[in-house]
Amino acid sequence: MEKRLVQLPDGQYVVVDALGHRIYKTFMVVGSRYTCDKNCPYCTAKITLWPGGNNHWEQMASQIERCERAGIRFEYLTMSGNGEPSKNPIGELRELRDVFDRFPHLFEYRRFQTSGNIFWNPEIFALFGHDHVFEITRVSLDSAEDMQGLCYNRDYTQAPAFQEARVVFNHCLLKANYHRLLEDIDAYIQRYGRVLHSLNLKILNTNTFDETQLSSRYSQWILDTGLGKGDVDMVVAVMNNHFERVNDYNPFFDRFEWRHPSGMLITLYARRTPYGLPNIVFYRGALVDYSLHPQHIELPEDVDLKALFNAAPEVARVRT
Ligand code: SF4
Repeated sequence: MEKRLVQLPDGQYVVVDALGHRIYKTFMVVGSRYTCDKNCPYCTAKITLWPGGNNHWEQMASQIERCERAGIRFEYLTMSGNGEPSKNPIGELRELRDVFDRFPHLFEYRRFQTSGNIFWNPEIFALFGHDHVFEITRVSLDSAEDMQGLCYNRDYTQAPAFQEARVVFNHCLLKANYHRLLEDIDAYIQRYGRVLHSLNLKILNTNTFDETQLSSRYSQWILDTGLGKGDVDMVVAVMNNHFERVNDYNPFFDRFEWRHPSGMLITLYARRTPYGLPNIVFYRGALVDYSLHPQHIELPEDVDLKALFNAAPEVARVRT
C-alpha cells in the first residue's frame, strides 16, 4: 500500500498510508537480561547502559494493543537483545511468540536479531525459523576475520539451520574495510544470495543517550575504528554512482536505499535524526524511545491522517 510522508500540526514528520495508519519502521522487543556468546568490541547491547531489571513480558499484549488503538502499523517486528535473544528461556520465547501471533495485521514481516547463536539451537530455531528474517552484524565477509574481530569461535554460517534461514547482514562500515565496499557488496550477494533477504551498511552508534558523550570503551572503539555520521555523504555518493537509488531521503525513516543489479536491497541509515526515531521499543513493560523516555503514541483527536495523506503532494510519496 502506498505511503506518504506528512507533517503533523506540531511539526513532527510521520509516514502514513491511505487508510490513515502511521507506519513505523519496527516494534523492537528488548529484553532486560544481558547474555551473549560473542564479545563484539562495539557491543551495541552493553553500550546502551540501559538499567536491566524485570522484563514484564506480561505487558506485551496490552502494549501492542495500545499501538493498534493508536492506528500504528510497523514494517516489521524485531526480537532484539539486550544481548542474544535466543538465550532467553524457551518458555518465555514461546509465550512471546503466542502474543505476536495474535497481531499479524500490525507487522508486514518479522525479524530476529541474533549473534548467530540461534542457528546452533534447533529447538529455538524451529520456533522462529519459518517466518522470521535473521539480522546479523558482521565486520567482515570473511568468516575467519569476522570471528577474530567479534570474538566468537563457531562459524554460524556452517550451521545446518543457517542454510534454511532468511538473513539480513548488517555490514559495519569501518576505516579498514571501506576501501573495498563495492567488492564486499558483490561478494556478500554472490556468496549468500540464496539466504540473503537484504544487506544493511551499518554506521555504528557511539552512545544511545547522548552521542557527544563517550560512555565506554565500546564508544571509543567505534570512534577509532568505524566510519561516522560525517562519512554518510561520501558513502551515499559512492553508492549513487554504482547502484539504482530506490527512495528519496525522508526525515522520518532516515535511510537511503539502493537496488543491486541482482535485485537485492541495500540500506544505509543516515543517523541524521534522533537515534531510533521511527522505532517503538518495548522495554521492561513500557513503550519507550532509545533514550528510555516514554513514547507518547496517541495523537490528538482532531488530527485527520487520511486528510493529510490525500493532501500530500507526489513528492511526499515514500518509495521503497
Ligand atoms: S552479538 Fe550483539 S550483544 Fe552479542 S556481543 Fe555482539 S553486539 Fe553485543
